[in-house]
Amino acid sequence: MSLEIDLPNASIRVKVSDLEKVGAGGEGSVYLLRHQSGTFAIKRYHQPSQERIQKLEAAIAARPVNAVFGEGDDAIVQMAWPLGLVREHGESLGFVMPYVDSKKAMELDYFISPVLAKDARHLEKPNLAVRLQIAQNLCSVVNSLHEVGHYFIDFKPQNIKVYPRSLHVCLIDCDSFSVTHNGVRYPASAYSPQFINPIALVNDQPPSALGEEQDNWAIAVALFMLLNFDLHPYDGRASPSVTVTAVDDFVKMGLYAYGPRPHPLVTPKPASVHNLWPSELRALFDRAFTDPQRAPTMSEWVQYLQSILQNKLIARCDSKPNAVDHLRFLGNGCMQCAFESRQKPRAIKQRPAKPRSVEPPAAPKPSPVTNSSKPSFPYNVPIPAQRKMSGEAKAFWGLLIFFLIVFFINSQQETPDPRQIVNVAPSTPPSPPTPQADSAPRTSYFYSYPIRKPKSSGVSLVTEEIRWCAYQDYRISYLKLTVSDNLLKDIREEFNSLCVNKKLMSDVRETIETVELANPGLQQALKGVANLD
Ligand SMILES: [Zn+2]
Repeated sequence: MSLEIDLPNASIRVKVSDLEKVGAGGEGSVYLLRHQSGTFAIKRYHQPSQERIQKLEAAIAARPVNAVFGEGDDAIVQMAWPLGLVREHGESLGFVMPYVDSKKAMELDYFISPVLAKDARHLEKPNLAVRLQIAQNLCSVVNSLHEVGHYFIDFKPQNIKVYPRSLHVCLIDCDSFSVTHNGVRYPASAYSPQFINPIALVNDQPPSALGEEQDNWAIAVALFMLLNFDLHPYDGRASPSVTVTAVDDFVKMGLYAYGPRPHPLVTPKPASVHNLWPSELRALFDRAFTDPQRAPTMSEWVQYLQSILQNKLIARCDSKPNAVDHLRFLGNGCMQCAFESRQKPRAIKQRPAKPRSVEPPAAPKPSPVTNSSKPSFPYNVPIPAQRKMSGEAKAFWGLLIFFLIVFFINSQQETPDPRQIVNVAPSTPPSPPTPQADSAPRTSYFYSYPIRKPKSSGVSLVTEEIRWCAYQDYRISYLKLTVSDNLLKDIREEFNSLCVNKKLMSDVRETIETVELANPGLQQALKGVANLD
């Protein structure tokens, strides 16, 4: 049994038995295809309906230009977008797409949830700058999708992958997107609880009826969670008169606790750090969650996030200036300090189950693109009477609290990482990730190349001291991207007094700069070290 596969520049035949099966789900199975032009994934539907194939043909024809950049296995895949059809005996039964290696790209959840980040062995602690850079990259990619008339619809963090080194993002499950081609709309067929916008919930709209407003709202939710240590914007402390408990019911009722005015039925969770955000950022979230039809567009987010990153509106923490995961918005207190202090004596909350896509029974049909009138959005759900906790619920919460206490005690017994690690996002397009660098011991670079801080009285520098200066120079130019000049003053003054106007062998410095500092592993190590001394 062989498959005929339409790759971008060639049509090939491959035996099914030669393919490695890498996944299977309700819709179909996924296989790995290694080819001289790169590595690909094949999705073979269990039931390849005519609607699915028509939608795939449209998607293949209307592929966004920036879906992939770079070539071969070093390419950065920003969208696992269908590249070509896959046939058997002339019948289309699926498609081929770029392969996203799970060793190179991790789910966005790992950058949102402190619990998951802790579990991920090779992931450096994601700090504020990293989160902002991911947010900007995500909004930028989705913006490019919107510009050509496609929509994500089934947006949830599990459908986003992040390359931990470059912080580029990759959108997956692209065959479920709402796609437009030649004036015809091929709608989405699924969405996921906790990420369905309130207009759709209140009006009971299926995913096939949704467009850009769904993406704008769902991504605002993800950004809120990314900047608020996994707290959903509709996760608040409800008054006893509220009997609903599901997040989607809170969304339907407009129970958003983090807005500019106190809500009569819900108050913020104590763990929230929203009060440490700049007013412009809060205003963007407040608009999304109090007036969802006017949720900020992707280009608005990109503009705002770029302004923060490019204008260096991030500073180190006053209490822990050397703890590089303690970054804060300039003019505001440290979110990490607040988060850590508010976790005591409580344990970090466990994540609820991942939201699963909901797909209505009937497959959506392609439809001509029209400007249909927007459905109404009243928060008109009646407020139910006071809730009572059942015996079962009490037992459940008792058990949960017990496990959280055990979890907290265990987490306190772990030895903290002795090195403070900063992982600030680069402002220029970064180099592709290196597969083995994740597991490389960070400190080995310093041990394999002798390094010594120059003496202030020294006039001429030896190789080890030249290396210290070159490395420090690299660190300073990197830190300048995110830390205000004021905070860098001391480190620069020290560098100037120890390294500038000293006699040194220029060829040694040149070798260090062009050979050693070209190594991405060393670059990463230098970005991660709190102090070069
Ligand atoms: Zn702090």
